[in-house]
Amino acid sequence: MVKLIMSERAQLQIVCISDTHGFHREMTLPRGDIFIHAGDFLTDDRQLEVLADFNDWLGGLPYRHRIVVAGNHDLLFASNPSKARRLLTNAVYLENSGVTVEGLRFWGCPVTPVPSSMAFGVERGAASRKYWDKVPTETDVLITHGPPFRVLDAENILAPHMGCEQLTRAVLRAQPRLHIFGHVHGGYGRETGPDGISFVNCAVLARLGRGEFGLRQPMVVELDRPS
Ligand SMILES: [Zn+2]
Repeated sequence: MVKLIMSERAQLQIVCISDTHGFHREMTLPRGDIFIHAGDFLTDDRQLEVLADFNDWLGGLPYRHRIVVAGNHDLLFASNPSKARRLLTNAVYLENSGVTVEGLRFWGCPVTPVPSSMAFGVERGAASRKYWDKVPTETDVLITHGPPFRVLDAENILAPHMGCEQLTRAVLRAQPRLHIFGHVHGGYGRETGPDGISFVNCAVLARLGRGEFGLRQPMVVELDRPS
């Protein structure tokens, strides 16, 4: 008799997006196990309405797990956090906090350096280090709204690096397998650091000029299941 054994795939597929700015329903998403939104899902007005719609949309996505971090445009999470969190029922919301999913330890933080921030803005240097010091050493996947300094953090080749130096220190200390972020839309892409850390800027909204926008592809990252 042949015995069939259903084996779990050795890798987990993580689907990452950020900076949808109200255009979430325009996204075409691939299959995967874990869905991440790294912030800026709201528009600057009608925040309650857009959040309710975003939450509905999340509820229909075919992923076993959904994790969301806020960004500098998600004002409601800073101005009325209890109400905002009550409306976000279809995802795990991380704000300077962590969750373990399928054996992977995630940590999320919405902080970006002022002055480019409307919500969760913090001065560079010691003030921001307070937040980054909280990132546990046992982190497999770090989700932040903003990029680390000099990694996928410029709008174009001539533009200044917008990333946070203190976040870079935290990444080097915690050595996550994967660091997901957005915020600097022109930095969309992925690269692997010298320590083998995968960096993914998944800001999907592209500014095309003259008030026109386009949407880029979501990023899909495969990670070995923790043994
Ligand atoms: Zn942003």
